[in-house]
Amino acid sequence: MLTRRRGSDSSATGVGNRRDVGLARQFAVLSLVPMLVLGIALGFTVRHIITARFLDSYGRTDELTVDAMASTLLAGVDLNQGTTSAQARHIDSVVANFYRIDFGTGSTQALVTAWSPNGNVLYSTDTALIGKTESLPPTARVALTGTVTSTIVSSVPGAHGWKGASIQSTIPLSLGGHVIGAVESYSPLGTLGAAISHGVFQVELVLVLGLLLLWAVLFPIVIRASQRLRRQAEENERLALSDALTGLANRTLFHDRLQLALSEANKLDERVGLLVLDLDRFKEVNDTLGHAQGDRLLCEIGERLRGALRDTDTLARLGGDEFAVVLPNVHDAESAADVARRMLAALEQPFAFDELSVTPQASVGVAVCPDDGRDLDQLLSRADQAMYEAKHTRGRVSIYDSHKDTASIGRLALVTELRRGLNRGEILCHFQPIARLPEGEVQGAEALVRWQHPSRGLLAPGEFLDVAEQAGLMRAITDRVLELALTHCRTWRECKPDFFVSVNLSGESLRDATLPDVVARALQRHEVPASALELEITEGAILSDPLQAKSLLARLQLLGVSVALDDFGTGYSSLSYLAQLPVHKIKIDRSFVADILSNPVDETIVAAVIDLGRRLDMAVLAEGVESQQVWERLARLGCVQAQGFYLSRPVRPEEIGAMLEATALFPLP
Ligand code: C2E
Ligand code: MG
Ligand code: MG
Repeated sequence: MLTRRRGSDSSATGVGNRRDVGLARQFAVLSLVPMLVLGIALGFTVRHIITARFLDSYGRTDELTVDAMASTLLAGVDLNQGTTSAQARHIDSVVANFYRIDFGTGSTQALVTAWSPNGNVLYSTDTALIGKTESLPPTARVALTGTVTSTIVSSVPGAHGWKGASIQSTIPLSLGGHVIGAVESYSPLGTLGAAISHGVFQVELVLVLGLLLLWAVLFPIVIRASQRLRRQAEENERLALSDALTGLANRTLFHDRLQLALSEANKLDERVGLLVLDLDRFKEVNDTLGHAQGDRLLCEIGERLRGALRDTDTLARLGGDEFAVVLPNVHDAESAADVARRMLAALEQPFAFDELSVTPQASVGVAVCPDDGRDLDQLLSRADQAMYEAKHTRGRVSIYDSHKDTASIGRLALVTELRRGLNRGEILCHFQPIARLPEGEVQGAEALVRWQHPSRGLLAPGEFLDVAEQAGLMRAITDRVLELALTHCRTWRECKPDFFVSVNLSGESLRDATLPDVVARALQRHEVPASALELEITEGAILSDPLQAKSLLARLQLLGVSVALDDFGTGYSSLSYLAQLPVHKIKIDRSFVADILSNPVDETIVAAVIDLGRRLDMAVLAEGVESQQVWERLARLGCVQAQGFYLSRPVRPEEIGAMLEATALFPLP
């Protein structure tokens, strides 16, 4: 799977590059269009502003001329008659000065006309017009309202001596603040027009170059930003489909792949295998090694599992310590189970963590399409059921079996029966003696629960404790066992005053804050001292909630009850834990004790635990002593207590009584 992903990464990069080039081209074209529009709009605006400014200043200069003309005109001019030719010559000189007209050569460079408000031509460079009455042009009417207008026109009324565009300017003729007429002038735009155009062109050139520069600077920035966005989008897509911790497929991608495999299989008439793998007691790993190391372990487990699969198989982490695999095109359920076994074999090599090594156990459920269902949910639920079956039976790999489905119905019935059995007193205790090494003095007994089932006979704890745990009946069972143990203990103590009983606690009991009070009341009721009661806990039970367990054990210690750590060596707990907990006894699990004679490693472990107990001031008991040789070896190693079939199997309480009455010693050789 990893290889395939790498492959697709490189091809994705190629596609990405091509996409980048396309994107650059697209941006180049799309960004040029608005730049062009902006450039043209700015060009027009600049041209308009510059021309308006010019005309404005031209109009104002013209106004000065008209003022001079006005003072001349008004010196004795009859506003109804117009200027006399002498007055007109005088005004000509003012006008000629401003418009640079050479009246002598007749090269008229301006057309200037002054009107009285009623249209009488007071003065004109066209002398023929003076004294005539005309209808006022619209611009002259505007000037009579006191407003100056300047504009560029392409044609000039009447004859004049120039070609091309002209500046038309109309100015009010004022006297003492009163408008008494209007003066209109036309003069050729000529070189002024060229100057304006040149000025405008320069500004437009700067504008265009500026815009091009801006575009050139923006272009790589936008391309880089879009590349980053694209990469981010691809990364987001990858994250949405993969498990953040292990990088494996996540639940979403897994469902997609499974759905795809199911529809392909349907079309091609093939089988699809589905494996659900769950790590056993992974919580203990987390609690012991810490979550960071737990995460690391999950990643490494993911790597190993992937190594056991084909490229076409999809391995996903569904969450927590649960993995699942889609196996497209499998031959049958057995070949899917073979893959499951290969995956488990991949986990057999221990995982190294600093000074510790961990060998995780896992259970795998197998379901196959179409044999166990064609529907995704149904198949998943069946693989899940098979996985739980594997966990229960410790079979490690279990293939879904429709007959076992009825077992879950049977389990429901068992819960009902167990509830009834508790009320009817069917829950009993057998006791297994605990003796001191080496002489074999019986010091106490462990209470081991039994169910006297009305039809199935005497059931061992393995047959109903799981169901009781799931149904929340452990509390009731513990109470019952405690009652029975203390009842018998009181009797046995009459024969042997320092006799003690040991009662097993489940994880649920260790999370129950009322337990110390329940124990205290029970001791009181049976008039048994706390020192006569030992409570057995397992590492797993402590680790399900270490803080709560610690405070609960401390309260029990205050009562004077002693605590034994049962099945020691089978959990993941660290030794530092042991030193922190108020534990009085270590019970070495029988898996280490059984082979002590033939397996030097087991013997070393047992010897080390005995030594550890001595150093931590804890008694050490060996469980599962089945032979005299083991008994003697343990005695030589310095173990102080033992229990096991060699001494006695768990027996009915009457037999313990008989044993104590006959002799407090086992018939040891
Ligand atoms: P455990 O507490 O470790 O109890 C010892 C188990 O080992 C008993 O199994 C006992 O019959 C068995 N055993 C003792 N000596 C030998 C031996 O020499 N060889 C072999 N092969 N086995 C030996 P049992 O009675 O079936 O109990 C199994 C487990 O069930 C117990 O293991 C304990 O964890 C749990 N259990 C029993 N009674 C209770 C109870 O009242 N409450 C809770 N929470 N758990 C209980
Ligand atoms: Mg026990
Ligand atoms: Mg045990």
